[in-house]
Amino acid sequence: MNAVRFEDIEKRFDGVVALRALNLMAPSEKFLALLGPSGCGKTTALRITAGLEAPTGGRVFIGDRDVTRLQPRDRDVAMVFQSYALYPHMTIRENIGYPLWIRDVPESERRQKVDAVAKSLEVDHLLERRPRQLSGGQRQRIALARAIVRNPAAFLMDEPLSNLDARLRLTMRGEIKRLCHRLGATTIYVTHDQAEAMTMADLVAVMGSGSLQQVAPPEQIYDFPANRFVAMFVGNPPMNVLKVDVAGPAMIIAGMPIKASAQLIAACRQGNAVELGIRAEDVDIVAGAERGSIPGEVYVVEPMGSETLIDIRLGDERITARVGRGFRAAPGSRINVSFDPDDACFFDASGVTVVHRAQSKGGKTHDHKIRS
Ligand code: ATP
Repeated sequence: MNAVRFEDIEKRFDGVVALRALNLMAPSEKFLALLGPSGCGKTTALRITAGLEAPTGGRVFIGDRDVTRLQPRDRDVAMVFQSYALYPHMTIRENIGYPLWIRDVPESERRQKVDAVAKSLEVDHLLERRPRQLSGGQRQRIALARAIVRNPAAFLMDEPLSNLDARLRLTMRGEIKRLCHRLGATTIYVTHDQAEAMTMADLVAVMGSGSLQQVAPPEQIYDFPANRFVAMFVGNPPMNVLKVDVAGPAMIIAGMPIKASAQLIAACRQGNAVELGIRAEDVDIVAGAERGSIPGEVYVVEPMGSETLIDIRLGDERITARVGRGFRAAPGSRINVSFDPDDACFFDASGVTVVHRAQSKGGKTHDHKIRS
C-alpha cells in the first residue's frame, strides 16, 4: 500500500551528477537498504524521498501518490538521522510528541501516544529528562520513537547507528529490524556498512557512482552479484577476484590449469570472461601440490576467533581463504589452494557478471545461470 518508488530520478548539483536514472522500489512493508560507498548518492536519494531536495528529473511515488512536488510535511514520511536531531531545550516527552504537536493533535491524545511508543521502545522512564542527560543509544531510541509516534507511510533512516559504539550498533540493528517488522513499516535505510544492510534488510540496493548496481535480497546479492563492484563491496572479506584465461581447452588461473567442465568453459568464452570471483569460504587449503591446486605463499594469517582468514599471494595476485579456527601457518610459507570453478562467478572486461556460480551442484550437471 505504501511502497516508495523512484522513477527515472536524476539529481545534479552544478557539475556533479549525484544520481542518474534511478529506478527503484521499496515494496510496501519491506525494509530496503541503500548500500554503497561514500558519495554514491544514497543520502541524496533519501532526501529526495523526504522532499528535502528536489530531483533534477524523474518522479517519486509513495503508494499511488506522486509526491515529487509535495512539501516534506505533506509526504507522510518520518526521517531518522545519524545526528538524532533532538531539540536540546525540550524534554524527551516533548521531543517524541513534537510531530503530533505541529499537527495540532490534542494534548490528551498526544500524551497517550507518546506513552505507548515510549513504553514499546523501553524509554518510558526517560520521558521527563532532556537529551543531554541521555546516552547515545538512548538518544537514538528517542529519535526512533519520534519517527514512529505518528504512524507514517514510510520511515527514512540515514545511517542512524553511525554514532554508536560497535556493541550498541549490534544491539540496535537487531532492535530496529524487529521494530520495523512489527510495525509493518516501509523502510528505506541508508548505510555504507554492508553488515548492517545484509543483516537488516529484506532487499539491498547497492549503489555506486550515482547508479543502482543491483537490487535483490541479501543472500542473492552475496551469492549472485550482478557485477564486480557488488562482488567486491559486499562480503567481509570481499570476494576474491582473479584473472582467468578461457581461450584454451583448460581454464588457466594464476598460471595453472584448473579442471572445469567444457560447458562452463564454453559459457565463459561466450561471455568473454576475463576474471573470476570466488568467496573466501569456497577456497580450500590443500596438503601438498595436488593436481589442480594453485601454489602460493602465506602473506598473513588473521585469527578471528570462530574462524581464520589467510591472505595468500599467488604470484602477483592474492586470494583470501576462510578456514577453521586454530589454523596456523608462518608468513612466507608455501601453501596450496584449490576451489571448484562451479563456485565462482565470471566477469567480462567491463566487470559485468557473465556467468553466475552454479545454483546446484552434484553429479555431472552444473546449472550455471548465464546472463542473457
Ligand atoms: P555519504 O555516505 O558520504 O553520506 P552518499 O552516498 O550519501 O555519501 P550523497 O551525500 O548523496 O552521497 O552525495 C552524492 C554526491 O553528490 C557527492 O558527490 C556529493 O559531493 C554531491 N552532493 C551532495 N549534496 C550536494 C550539495 N548540496 N551540493 C553539491 N554537491 C552535493
